[in-house]
Amino acid sequence: MTEDIKKVKELKSLSIRKLKEKVNEIKNELDKEEQKIITYSKNFTLSLSNYCQNQCGYCFYNYRIAKETGEKNVVLIEDEKIDLIIQNAAQYGCKEALLMSGEFPDSFQIVQKD
Ligand code: SF4
Repeated sequence: MTEDIKKVKELKSLSIRKLKEKVNEIKNELDKEEQKIITYSKNFTLSLSNYCQNQCGYCFYNYRIAKETGEKNVVLIEDEKIDLIIQNAAQYGCKEALLMSGEFPDSFQIVQKD
């Protein structure tokens, strides 16, 4: 087992309170300038379906809005489109995917059929 994996396993076993203490401990060991560094993970969103059992008036996952504006709904994203989105994201150096959909899209027959 590598040293990094051991550290991750150790951190996973901590309670939230202990984990916060550990993060502060590590942060305090850094130089003042390094403490200001903000890290991020380049990511992209993959919207699997824009059907949601709720219909919030402001939300992309409310399938009724697309109908009203003449846009096309994403009943269930096609495999080819997923491949294309992932390839594009990889070209931009994304390391993380956020998989999204509305709540219980499979409660709609149209999504079940797709
Ligand atoms: S995804 Fe959330 S915000 Fe959007 S319609 Fe569904 S419940 Fe509302």
